[in-house]
Amino acid sequence: MAEERITDQGAKDYKEFLHPVMIKNYGQWKYHEIVKPGVLVHVAESGDKLFTVRIGSPRLLSTKSIRFFMATADKYCDGFLRWTTRNNVEFLTDKEENVDAIIKDVEADGWPVGGTGRTASNMVHTQGWVHCHTSATDASGIVKSIMDAVFEDFTNETLPGKLKMALACCLNMCGAVHASDISVLGIHRRPPVVDYHLLGQICEIPTTIAACPTGAIRQDIVDGKKAMKIVEDQCMFCGACYTACPNMPIADALNDGVSIWVGGKISNARSKPAFTKLLIPYLPNNPPRWPEVVQAVQKVITVYKENGKRYERLGEMIERIGWPKFFKLTGFEFTKYHIDDFKLAFKSYNTSAQLRF
Ligand code: SF4
Ligand code: SF4
Repeated sequence: MAEERITDQGAKDYKEFLHPVMIKNYGQWKYHEIVKPGVLVHVAESGDKLFTVRIGSPRLLSTKSIRFFMATADKYCDGFLRWTTRNNVEFLTDKEENVDAIIKDVEADGWPVGGTGRTASNMVHTQGWVHCHTSATDASGIVKSIMDAVFEDFTNETLPGKLKMALACCLNMCGAVHASDISVLGIHRRPPVVDYHLLGQICEIPTTIAACPTGAIRQDIVDGKKAMKIVEDQCMFCGACYTACPNMPIADALNDGVSIWVGGKISNARSKPAFTKLLIPYLPNNPPRWPEVVQAVQKVITVYKENGKRYERLGEMIERIGWPKFFKLTGFEFTKYHIDDFKLAFKSYNTSAQLRF
């Protein structure tokens, strides 16, 4: 057997952190049920049961919040809890009598229990104006505004099926906006502005030119010094050059905003995984509560509630009733920006877990 290499890089083996009941019954699960919104029970072939209580979190957490989660896990779950991909926190216990006690404690501290089954998920999201330099919009602010509006759909099974939501504050999309039922994607609409004054002192010109995925940056000479210029028609406003060169800011208070995408999913259940498709090309940034974005998301959810069949995902519903009818029901306009001239990619990407050769 090869000698185990110990490095200080990368995540530790996840099996070190699994609940003992999970390790004992690994790969031997018989079924699972949603007891009520936010509570799951997994039943193993051995008869062992593992209960999960899921709460929503804002993703950016204070030390006080994390300490509360740890104390709750120590009190009821032998110290075991986990974070889901959509920023929920899950408390795991093999003792059924602990479930109501966990719910009582977390709700008393202000944390909502929900997000399982036919509910709206918590929104997986990115850094936004809090942290990232390429953001075209905020993340936490919009997510808070949307989740406040759909709070009842997180804590109750009010929807036809699962509704997973995501936000990425630029098209580098650190969030799962490519494959969620409803996605909010920050967009820039103007190329970066080249600040010639400091260019040579801060940026490496060849590295910056190489950073552009569309080859839109060219060498230039300004006032006898080496500089760069952008071919605007070739720029897709991705901000990759700004990462390489801080003297090419792309943030633009007038032109930045968000787009709304719908109908994606990752699961293989019933139908193949699907990419999201464009619904609204542009909505303005309107902090602190982003009313236009919140209303658009609520409109989509209302149409889904009124037209979706039980367990049908939003994208499956749209495919069944047809996109023209979906645009009509939601009242959003079909524009030239909805015409996708990148058809080959959508056909050739492998979007399912099935192998093909
Ligand atoms: S999505 Fe874009 S702006 Fe947002 S955190 Fe990721 S890279 Fe930064
Ligand atoms: S924003 Fe993206 S596409 Fe535009 S110049 Fe910069 S790297 Fe190139």
